[in-house]
Amino acid sequence: LVRNADTAMYQAKRGGRDNHCTYKDSMTSEAYNLMSKSSGLKQALQNNELFVQYQPQYNSFTGDVYGAEALVRWNHPSKGILLPGDFLDIAEQTGIIVDIDDYVFDIVFNDLQELKQQGLVSNDFSLSVNVSGRKLLSENLLEHLKICHEQAPDITSQITLELTERDMITKLEKCRNFIDQIKKLGFKIAIDDFGTGYSSLATLKHLPIDILKLDRSFVSGLSSATVDYVIIDSILTIARGLHLSAIAEGVETPQQLEALKTLGCQTVQGYLLSYPINLDELIKLLIKQSPP
Ligand code: C2E
Ligand code: CA
Ligand code: CA
Ligand code: CA
Repeated sequence: LVRNADTAMYQAKRGGRDNHCTYKDSMTSEAYNLMSKSSGLKQALQNNELFVQYQPQYNSFTGDVYGAEALVRWNHPSKGILLPGDFLDIAEQTGIIVDIDDYVFDIVFNDLQELKQQGLVSNDFSLSVNVSGRKLLSENLLEHLKICHEQAPDITSQITLELTERDMITKLEKCRNFIDQIKKLGFKIAIDDFGTGYSSLATLKHLPIDILKLDRSFVSGLSSATVDYVIIDSILTIARGLHLSAIAEGVETPQQLEALKTLGCQTVQGYLLSYPINLDELIKLLIKQSPP
């Protein structure tokens, strides 16, 4: 009887028996949803449904291809090709992102070796990969990079890891330690979406970064005499002062490109120049640029 009374009171607090049931059921279905989506992703990894496209990065003055950024895609059996926005949140929440980043990294590492063996790229050419904060702070990233370094120590300097300041600033000491070790192996470090976090300058001050990627949100408003123009000018001044490279991303119009050249930004990336493309298309682009 006491137990029944307790249950009744509990249900009353929850807003009655029916509400209680709905609440519980919706929780369950949310968890179920997450679980089924994440097992779909695990399956996708096993079935090689994930693949990589490369968005070329150009020297804004010469028009030469400087490198490319690897971007993951999911060739879903029923939904077609999915972009990161459709599945990376779940991958982050469930931790599968750590495996996805490994998978993408291995593809990029092999592709770069292939491009070099075929004599398609010089030692200045670089490929970059996005690394989630979860991945950065997992011990296994360093192990993975060490193995790659043992296999091909001469190409690590041509691979850049793109990290966001939001991911780095939360555990600054630990990140500094990891980044120091990653750099000892020869890899380069870029801050992605630079300027959009709350601590851009602190990141620069405390971490040994090589490249700043100017966020698309600043590039989009870029015509002379705008706030964005002044912000990009200032970021480029900081980059020069600290001897860092700068890459502007999200370049969509000739006006934006002209403004970036006027400001002295040497490397650019965006739909104006090229959409993300498959490896074979990147190879065609490289062949066209420097005929054998
Ligand atoms: P991000 O690193 O900032 O990558 C640039 C995104 O902007 C890409 O979207 C790219 O296709 C898009 N983009 C390039 N040029 C333009 C342009 O001119 N205009 C506009 N509006 N967009 C442009 P995508 O491929 O959908 O990737 C979205 C985000 O997903 C990436 O943003 C990155 O944070 C994340 N991501 C992609 N691949 C990976 C990966 O392998 N691992 C991890 N951890 N994250 C990844
Ligand atoms: Ca990126
Ligand atoms: Ca970015
Ligand atoms: Ca982004």
